[in-house]
Amino acid sequence: CNPNNPTGTFETVKDIENFVSQVPADTLVLVDEAYIDFVSEPNATAMDLTKKYPNIVVMRTFSKAYGLANFRVGYAVFSKEVAEQVQKVRLPYNVNSIAQVAATAAFKDQKFVDDVVKNNAEQRTQLEAFFDEQGIKHYQSQANFIFFEYQDADKLADYLLHNGYLIRTGLRPNWLRITVGTADDNQNIEQLIKEFSK
Ligand SMILES: *Cc1c(COP(=O)(O)O)cnc(C)c1O
Repeated sequence: CNPNNPTGTFETVKDIENFVSQVPADTLVLVDEAYIDFVSEPNATAMDLTKKYPNIVVMRTFSKAYGLANFRVGYAVFSKEVAEQVQKVRLPYNVNSIAQVAATAAFKDQKFVDDVVKNNAEQRTQLEAFFDEQGIKHYQSQANFIFFEYQDADKLADYLLHNGYLIRTGLRPNWLRITVGTADDNQNIEQLIKEFSK
């Protein structure tokens, strides 16, 4: 998964290629790029590797930066060899017609995606700066969430929930994953974390 969920960390195409080149040719490597749009580095996608390595599959979803969660639509890029096998097992009509129309419209609306990605990058930088200021340990994120360490993580999550913010617990003891929100939400979150930490 690149960027990874829940850490938000990112591997370069070079590192992924280095890995794939050492994997036996009859072993399939899936690269899940659900969060790839949020990466601030240029040339982040491993898509081109599918031309060189028939055993690599790159998967994408419209559920994240494109805002179509619950439409159940995404796509994957892979070699003809893999396509023949996928064709045998995929369900008929696996992407319904409404989802297809939504995905096509979303794909054409790159301005929306650009705005989402830009806002996310700004707010992610802001939230990371806040965590640094507070001495809260976190991974450097290239996604739309930040994974951070907090003593009493579950109690903090409860406090945030009672104030209207649901964040992800239970991934690792004393670690939480928070989604990067709007500027207003992030300001509220920062205020709430400060109050709770007192
Ligand atoms: C959201 C997500 C997906 C894809 O989600 P769908 O809604 O099923 O398209 C895939 N991998 C990861 C890690 C995700 O977070």
